[in-house]
Amino acid sequence: MFKLADRMNTIQPSPTLVLNAKAGELRAQGIDIINLSTGEPDFDTPTWIQDAAIKAMHNGVTKYTPGDGLPALKTAIQKKLLRDYDLDYDLNMITVGAGGKQVIFNALMASVNPGDEVIIPAPYWVSYPEIVSFCGGIPILVPCLPENNFKLTAEQLRYHITDRTRWLILNSPNNPTGVVYSRQELRGLSDVLMEFNHVNILSDDIYENLIYDDEKFVSIVRVEPRLKFRTLVVNGVSKSYAMTGWRIGFAAGPVDLIKAITLLQSQSTSNACSISQAAAVEAFIGPQDFLDTWRHSFVERRDASFNAINAIPGLTCAMPKGAFYHYVDCHAILGAKTPDGVRLKSDKDFCLYLLEHAQVMVVSGDSFGLSPYFRISYATAMDNLMLGCERIAKAISDLTIE
Ligand code: GLU
Repeated sequence: MFKLADRMNTIQPSPTLVLNAKAGELRAQGIDIINLSTGEPDFDTPTWIQDAAIKAMHNGVTKYTPGDGLPALKTAIQKKLLRDYDLDYDLNMITVGAGGKQVIFNALMASVNPGDEVIIPAPYWVSYPEIVSFCGGIPILVPCLPENNFKLTAEQLRYHITDRTRWLILNSPNNPTGVVYSRQELRGLSDVLMEFNHVNILSDDIYENLIYDDEKFVSIVRVEPRLKFRTLVVNGVSKSYAMTGWRIGFAAGPVDLIKAITLLQSQSTSNACSISQAAAVEAFIGPQDFLDTWRHSFVERRDASFNAINAIPGLTCAMPKGAFYHYVDCHAILGAKTPDGVRLKSDKDFCLYLLEHAQVMVVSGDSFGLSPYFRISYATAMDNLMLGCERIAKAISDLTIE
């Protein structure tokens, strides 16, 4: 047995990535899996963005770049922040990393001391608490219930702030619930935050462009500009531009933190891939109108899957306003017996049953810190999505519910 460092005891594999890899393996074995687990748009990266990468390769953009990113990319991000957030950031307040996840990892490594607390509204994206624990911090998981639309309230925030609180992590539009915080809700949170200068805010805005109906994206720092010097805005190209594999994320925030994130990057990956960075420039400054077509397609998938899920006895979900997930309540299924006589005691049992009995892969709520639920990603082709819902309905009709 190879002896690993003690710190490896504090980190678990990302369940979303584990499931995605498992779906690939099962498919390779010829098993007909419907994978509704991963949050990854099925669209191709737009051709003009691909072309920018090819051009970059031909023009020799294949060397090390500055640790904080190509100047052209940082300038494109600066313009994007002005265009979409109406906020002006100096270039030394911006850094580029290999995906939003790496930027968050470096930001927490650079700022969390052992024993520091990080407030994470639950349900949350699977990686936040893992990274906090890995840094020696204490994730303070605050259950946000359906009565409050799965959102953190100002009262809950105030209640959980202590002298050790270092960060609040906010994610809107939200993974896994698809809820979007309104300007008024963010005002309530920022009023509390203005009373506690020692609390920083990590605003994970990765789903910024995936927002539907009459909802408008607004980041907390726009609602309360005085929070700008203790807020780290994290965003990237993965979800909005269907560029998950290119690995480009960025952060904008306090100069000293940005410097520290870049320092960590310089001693780990040196820089994000130069070719991907060139492509990201095109993503940020190139045409944006195609996003409307994509949004339209997500809305169609959202509506169709919302209706299909809510028509299944025992399952309910609310209409998401952003991102591309349904967070489905499966309370009513617990205690049911499978055709093999197994009693389903948790959302995890239920998801395993769906995988084994119906070959549908979804992510159980325990991974996101709020049970009993499961997450369906509708960032997949309509046929696939509808077939997945049909299989779930059939699997449930095969259960004995007493
Ligand atoms: N963020 C996506 C998800 O929640 C992709 C995988 C990951 O990095 O977690 O499915």
